[in-house]
Amino acid sequence: MIAWQKAHGRRNLPWQGLRDAYRIWVSEIMLQQTQVATVIPYYERFTAAFPDVATLAAAPIERVLEHWSGLGYYRRAHLLHAAARAIMSDHGGTFPREAEQIASLPGIGRSTAAAIAAFAFGARGAILDGNVKRVLARHAGIEGFPGDARVERALWRHAEELVPDRDIEPYTQAMMDLGATLCLKRAPRCDACPVAGHCVARR
Ligand code: SF4
Repeated sequence: MIAWQKAHGRRNLPWQGLRDAYRIWVSEIMLQQTQVATVIPYYERFTAAFPDVATLAAAPIERVLEHWSGLGYYRRAHLLHAAARAIMSDHGGTFPREAEQIASLPGIGRSTAAAIAAFAFGARGAILDGNVKRVLARHAGIEGFPGDARVERALWRHAEELVPDRDIEPYTQAMMDLGATLCLKRAPRCDACPVAGHCVARR
């Protein structure tokens, strides 16, 4: 997966390779329910207007919503703003480093917290967003509805077992890229998939 990501994965996205938790966080929240190509111009404008967590926290919510306008799912913008204020009041203005602390902020779930910790701080942890659930369910042959608690627990267990000892950033990006570019909901491109050789669904 890591080798595949380095050769074929998505690179040169504006938030990649930054080690800036704030910008990575903004991108991760924008990417929820929204395609990369749509997110990029919003991300550029948003981070130009609010270059750091202090600026975002100090801005009135109306101004934040103006910059979110058109991106949809506006609750994300409200929670982003609330989390920026929580970082200022509860964390002295410094973005927390631990995934558990990141997950305690408004609007940040366990998977998003792990992705931010991996990309910003190189922290080892599993992600499990909608795309990754599909990849893992197919690859390991985990049956059932992913919203079901028993199935979700099995998916988290499998995701955690697979986390590599090093190269967490390209691995995490690979999981995202595989779900977004090859292991598609309909018509997955198994012929180009790096894990096709041991994929239960493929077999
Ligand atoms: S082989 Fe096909 S179904 Fe299996 S993980 Fe790869 S793209 Fe998905």
